[in-house]
Amino acid sequence: MISKLWNNYKNKVNSNCNPTSLDSVRGVSYWRNSLFSTTMIYVLPLCFIAFLPALLLISYENKEYITTLHLITIGVMFFIAFGPKVKVEVRKLVFSLTVFAFTIILNIFTSPSSGSVLVYFLAACIYSIIIFDNKYAYWWSHFVLFISAMFGFAIYFEWFDFSYNVDMSSANEWIAVSSNLIFLCYLSSALIPKIFIGIENYIIEQSSLKAELEKSKMSLEIKNNELEQYTYVASHDLQEPLRMVTSFMDKLNSNYGDQLDDKALLYIDYATDGAKRMKQIILDLLLYSRVNMPSEEEKNVDLNEIILAFLATREKSITEKGAEINYDKLPVLNTYEAPVVQIFHSLLDNALKYSRDVPPVINVSVKETGKFYEFAVEDNGIGIDENFYDKIFIIFQRLHNRKDDDGTGIGLSITKRAVEFLGGEIWLESVVGKGSTFYFTIQKK
Ligand code: ADP
Repeated sequence: MISKLWNNYKNKVNSNCNPTSLDSVRGVSYWRNSLFSTTMIYVLPLCFIAFLPALLLISYENKEYITTLHLITIGVMFFIAFGPKVKVEVRKLVFSLTVFAFTIILNIFTSPSSGSVLVYFLAACIYSIIIFDNKYAYWWSHFVLFISAMFGFAIYFEWFDFSYNVDMSSANEWIAVSSNLIFLCYLSSALIPKIFIGIENYIIEQSSLKAELEKSKMSLEIKNNELEQYTYVASHDLQEPLRMVTSFMDKLNSNYGDQLDDKALLYIDYATDGAKRMKQIILDLLLYSRVNMPSEEEKNVDLNEIILAFLATREKSITEKGAEINYDKLPVLNTYEAPVVQIFHSLLDNALKYSRDVPPVINVSVKETGKFYEFAVEDNGIGIDENFYDKIFIIFQRLHNRKDDDGTGIGLSITKRAVEFLGGEIWLESVVGKGSTFYFTIQKK
């Protein structure tokens, strides 16, 4: 209840005293207004707290004028914080003038040359320089100069009765003391705007850089989408002519095979093999263009089952190679199944494929790191030279030619896209001739 009231109060004062709070770029004027509105938020309750000693003063010393002054100040503060349809610059001006008025009164009733009240003048001047635009910076020092001159005259011509003050000032004393104040005020007027100019320039630079970055990010996204669309359409449309090539090659072989010589049959074989490979490339490209747009919803995916499915489908090659595949107890993730299957199967396939002349030993492990699960697929295969760590994740980049190993060079680029789609990263460590470990993270939900 109290915190709701406090929040409502803060919001109201903020909307009156900081109209720039909704600006998209928070420039210097936002921070000036923010300082002012925060001041107002705390000054009002403090005014009420300060009212208590004033009440005590009336009861003990009959100084009613202090209470009257106090009530007037509270009224002015209410006007500044809640006055409807008042420009923020006017609110600030009333506030600064009130603070100065208070300081002047304090100076009259204490000892003008004691110096302690002069600190209030300096504070009021610096605060006003900060909350108003740079172009008014010197006005506040001129104002302090004017007030000091007035006090000089007042002391000299004895306009007020300063006799009850502890160390009654002479005009000379006052000039000596107040000239320090004036010097410090002018120094502040000269230096403080310099900081603001620096900050303003920095904010402008940053926001224009941000806008540029945003623009190029958007155009990159559009181009990327276009490219994805293009890849999808091109690979989709290529399937039909490819099917024709394959089926007519089959027909040629079955209908006229007996009339053709060995060379012609070999050419048909090459053409069929080429078409088969092209089909694989097209299917991989389709997968690549769609991997970050899964057709299914998120669901609970048991990673252990994904490994079991891999063991079942690759049983033949696992047995042929005498491979050993070990895995930790893996978690169940609430995620998209297709990209996860893609990641595990592709890494396990490579670990099997790029083995040395010893039986492959593959270990799948997992650990939790804050917001992520970090998985590792480790093999004892041929390894990868450090210079190619980045290259292998680029589409169509292969380190081995087709004669050695079958593949399209798209597998790891699909895997990388799938990992990034799930909010993670992929990297590897490897020693040539000893084996590789591919690490990847998946964000926990
Ligand atoms: P592909 O296997 O179809 O060639 P990938 O994108 O899956 O394409 O892999 C790119 C290249 O990275 C492979 O050609 C291979 O040289 C290398 N590579 C991938 N995984 C491994 C591995 N586990 N061990 C050694 N080399 C690997």
